[in-house]
Amino acid sequence: MSEASEMPPLAARVASVTPSATVEMTERVRLARAAGREILGLASGDPNLETHPEIIAAAHRAMLAGDTHYGPAQGSPALRAAIARRLSAKTGVAYDASEILVTPGGKFAVFAAFMAALGPGDEVVLLDPCWVSYGAAVRLAGGVPVRVPALDSIDPDHIERAIGPRTRMIVVNSPVNPTGKVLCRDELGALLKLARRHDLWLVFDQVYADLCFEPDGFTYLQALPGAKERCFVADSLSKTYGMTGWRLGYLAAPAAAVKAVLKVVQHSIYCVPPFLQAGAEAALALPESVIEGYRARFRRRRDRAAAVLDRLPGFRCPAPPASFYLFPSIPGDDRAVAEEWLDRLSIAALPGSAFGELGRGHLRLSLTAPDEVLEEALARIERHYGG
Ligand code: PMP
Repeated sequence: MSEASEMPPLAARVASVTPSATVEMTERVRLARAAGREILGLASGDPNLETHPEIIAAAHRAMLAGDTHYGPAQGSPALRAAIARRLSAKTGVAYDASEILVTPGGKFAVFAAFMAALGPGDEVVLLDPCWVSYGAAVRLAGGVPVRVPALDSIDPDHIERAIGPRTRMIVVNSPVNPTGKVLCRDELGALLKLARRHDLWLVFDQVYADLCFEPDGFTYLQALPGAKERCFVADSLSKTYGMTGWRLGYLAAPAAAVKAVLKVVQHSIYCVPPFLQAGAEAALALPESVIEGYRARFRRRRDRAAAVLDRLPGFRCPAPPASFYLFPSIPGDDRAVAEEWLDRLSIAALPGSAFGELGRGHLRLSLTAPDEVLEEALARIERHYGG
């Protein structure tokens, strides 16, 4: 046999996954900036919030105190207890520390749930448009994503038709990335009903729940009767506290499911760095007014940007009830428009179709840049469209 000269083959599951559109755009912007171009960034999901100094101080203290070794794989008991307390207070559903697993970001929480719950070829229902990583993470875990249109509303009959003998899960994200929409109690109730009828898991991704502009009007899926026991809840400190680089999130699930997911964690990352968890504890101890301040900032930007975009010819931009995203419908092909904005206006935005078929004809704009950057971007967009 002749010796092979080329690289050995890689797994099909990796080949089946496209790189994340959001990460790719972030890379493009980084490269353009490195080459000396000034780009106004409306693409990144990384809020321009500095991590609160008390969080940094707590992590620093923990490092100096020698908390720089392996820790419990499930997360430190103190942090899990703090998470359980906050989650219980917010949702009105009692969570115990044994039902919490600390993860490196919400992204890994979602991935670990897929790893624990999916067998080869198992299907997962995704509501289109949705966050770019769900489909890829399902595939990496050996599953098959099945997308159901759900741009403006959820049609339970449509979803039920997508459920077959291989279906194991429905992924529910509220507030929704990319639209900023919040799912109402009836919609969540309909999804729960389907999950119960077909004995499915629900993955509830609530990473934007603290960025609801009317927090009292928000329904947590796990708060509906009969939901908690079939729910993997994924959450994160990234968006709430401006801690994206800390990679701190968690999964909340029935204790037996947490035990299963724990094996994925033990044999992959082992544990989240203990001194970062000390920082997370400090974050959760901050007064709610800190988050209210962040929320007010995003609300102001939402009002300002949505009003400007909604006036542009061919645009429609309702102000979403949550998150720091806008999802205007735009005239023309969204990929071409995103390219045009980058080339002609030096503005980075994401084509809506990166989030699924139903995102076609939209752009996703992140209001995560400083106010003056947003103002400059809006001025350029208005000029470009003759506003
Ligand atoms: N879920 C959704 C819907 C998101 O938009 C993101 C971040 N873009 C995440 C989860 C994960 O965030 P992180 O891993 O930083 O916690």
